Amino acid sequence: MSKSRPRFELFRRHVCQTSDAPLGLEVVRAAGSWVYTADGQAYLDFLAGICVNNVGHAHPAVVAAVQAQAEKYLHAMVYGEYVLEPQVEYAARLAEVAPGDLSVVYFTNSGTEANEGALKLAKKYTGRRRLVAFEGGYHGDTHGSLSVTGREVYRRPFEPLLPEVAFLPFDCLKALKAIDETVAGVIVEPIQGEGGIRVPSDDFLPALRRRCDQVGALLILDEVQTGFGRTGKLFACEHWGVVPDVLVLAKALGGGMPLGAFLSRPEIMCTLREDPPLSHVTTFGGHPVCCAAGLASLQVILEESLPARAAKLGSLLQAELEKMGRELGGVREVRGKGLHLGLELTHADLTARFVQHALKQGIIVGWTLHSDMVVRLAPPLTLTEEELEQGLTRLRAALTAALSDHAPPKLLQNFFKNA
Ligand code: PMP
Repeated sequence: MSKSRPRFELFRRHVCQTSDAPLGLEVVRAAGSWVYTADGQAYLDFLAGICVNNVGHAHPAVVAAVQAQAEKYLHAMVYGEYVLEPQVEYAARLAEVAPGDLSVVYFTNSGTEANEGALKLAKKYTGRRRLVAFEGGYHGDTHGSLSVTGREVYRRPFEPLLPEVAFLPFDCLKALKAIDETVAGVIVEPIQGEGGIRVPSDDFLPALRRRCDQVGALLILDEVQTGFGRTGKLFACEHWGVVPDVLVLAKALGGGMPLGAFLSRPEIMCTLREDPPLSHVTTFGGHPVCCAAGLASLQVILEESLPARAAKLGSLLQAELEKMGRELGGVREVRGKGLHLGLELTHADLTARFVQHALKQGIIVGWTLHSDMVVRLAPPLTLTEEELEQGLTRLRAALTAALSDHAPPKLLQNFFKNA
């Protein structure tokens, strides 16, 4: 692990620490599936910034788009006032590829801001106040998104949050009855990411869609992690043929630059234009450089058929990880879709040790926020077959080492202490 001083000391002292156990790699360069650190190590990145770098790090097409746009103009005016070519072109392209008739895009800077906008939109469009979300869901850390995040330990220190949010168990058809005519919007991840890569049963999302239609609540699908080919389809909702009223995107949307968005139908989105006008604006949302990067990245995803590639490599990786589990032990389940995989180990210490040993073996994997048993695997969708093989060799070595190491794990040891 790269912890060269004094930069690591400065990082610990001056960059706000969000845990006692940062991974602490000192990055000097990243390209494709690789992250290079100050101590001369090369790490195979099986996390991709948590589903951000779907086209790999610093894809040449994305870098070129950033450079070209930076030479034209950077920020020109707050959102929605000027006609900015990269913003308009990207919105139009997203409208073409989005499911159903979600043809209007509102760009933000991040996923949590996109969810804030989506929740406000549901309230304003329906004139209702109540929101429904799911246990184990994650939607971001600003007040509104945190209010619908299904893990009490993260909400409690910041209460009071939004009133009138009901949490239902994920993937439970019976619970959907609780969604009634008083509900403005229902927010859900099609596959829970931070909840431990939980894929719902096939009838869950279609039933949720039907229930929202029956009661007139907007269905908000948070595809911040699952979007842009990650799960084997361009958007995960395509696995179930479900079209949401609002689609929320971020992470891979910007091709490595900060960008979020929520998309909906014109008759819904027009409510942000009136009573009062300018009721939802942002200074930097839809930054021209970020939109140029995102459009270039989407082009790569489509031209190189990366969703299909994710599906193919994902089933291979899943099968190999299952085999590894059978041979070495310590694995309870491998689950997910495409290259959005969770490896559930048999206990939390083993999971922490596995992540630690993976780093020692030169492969970056992570955990999920709501589950201390699940290792998250989300490599770039551009991963080559050789890199997949190398990754598996490293993961095998990491599991072997983790199984024979009985020392208390150093990494992440405090992470879930209070969770
Ligand atoms: N929704 C989901 C499903 C996420 O995974 C995340 C980030 N992990 C967010 C929203 C928040 O996105 P951001 O960190 O860009 O605010």
